[in-house]
Amino acid sequence: MKKQNKTDPYHFETGEYRPPSEGGSSSLLVRLTRNCPWNHCTFCAMYKGEKFELRPPSEIISDIDAMGRIASGLKEIALRSGRNGTLTSAVVSEFFRKTPDLNFHPGVGMLISFLAAGGKTAFLQDADSLIMKAEDLTKVLIHLKTIFPSIERITSYGRSRTLARKPPTDLVRIHETGLDRIHIGLETGDPDLLKLIKKGSTPEDHVKGGKKAMEAGFQVSEYWMPGLGGKARSKDHALNTARVLNLINPHYIRSRPFTPRPGTIFYENAGPNDLDPMTPGEQLQEIHQTLEALEVTSRICFDHAGNYWTGPDGRLLLSQSYEGYPFPGQKAQVLALIETGIRYYS
Ligand code: SF4
Repeated sequence: MKKQNKTDPYHFETGEYRPPSEGGSSSLLVRLTRNCPWNHCTFCAMYKGEKFELRPPSEIISDIDAMGRIASGLKEIALRSGRNGTLTSAVVSEFFRKTPDLNFHPGVGMLISFLAAGGKTAFLQDADSLIMKAEDLTKVLIHLKTIFPSIERITSYGRSRTLARKPPTDLVRIHETGLDRIHIGLETGDPDLLKLIKKGSTPEDHVKGGKKAMEAGFQVSEYWMPGLGGKARSKDHALNTARVLNLINPHYIRSRPFTPRPGTIFYENAGPNDLDPMTPGEQLQEIHQTLEALEVTSRICFDHAGNYWTGPDGRLLLSQSYEGYPFPGQKAQVLALIETGIRYYS
């Protein structure tokens, strides 16, 4: 992301990525760090070639102030023009007429979407905000809630290993200051596969990090990658992932089916058999195996286009709702849907 002139009162930085569940709710994106402090996962191209940087709290606070200035400018026009503070396209147009440089600002569209949606949620970027010192992170959270008091939920990505190493008292403090939800990339609970994909976390790190986040009071959202081990490792991947998830019992479990992507280490090093995709039926069988072994009180979500399977009626087999299916209440229903899909694709 291009950095802007810092003497500009409207200067703020926006990172590229957020979980889909944070885009649908038009979250304010606040960039706490740049890129990923790990950056070795073989399936991931998100921050490849980009250097990780912690941003000083003063810089982040200056970003929040700049966003606050734009929000105030818009509100002032909305109030003055008799629109009772409502953000209409006429208000936005007038603001852009007065500050034409903002037409080229890479983050202003995001800020306007957030304000238009009522200014309720924020997402802290980039890949692992919990790596910041608790003292710095809480300073930022306090300032964010002061400038945007309408915010009701703040979320972030966090790595299991970072969480596993963080003192519990720091996690409680961060949660109590305002960070509500952490999105964690579990990918798999299989020890060999975790090594193979260079996740930098063991199953024990995943369990420790996930449980510590739960105990600190966060809502925890764990992402797993069906198909990550290919056909050869499918069963171990399915069962060990369920085993780890059972130990964490997070609030959300989100399916992100594996796709080999150009630009990733996996893709570049793939042998002739590595790129053989699992068939839709094999993918569904693996997911069935994972879900059948789950003993959790989590919501199971298929909130990504990668969960593409359809049923005999041509419609999506599984709902892509961000809130998913509550387990164990809807476990039998989800397994039956997947069985329908397996029959359909066989
Ligand atoms: S930790 Fe996350 S962002 Fe970093 S390389 Fe792995 S998957 Fe990508």
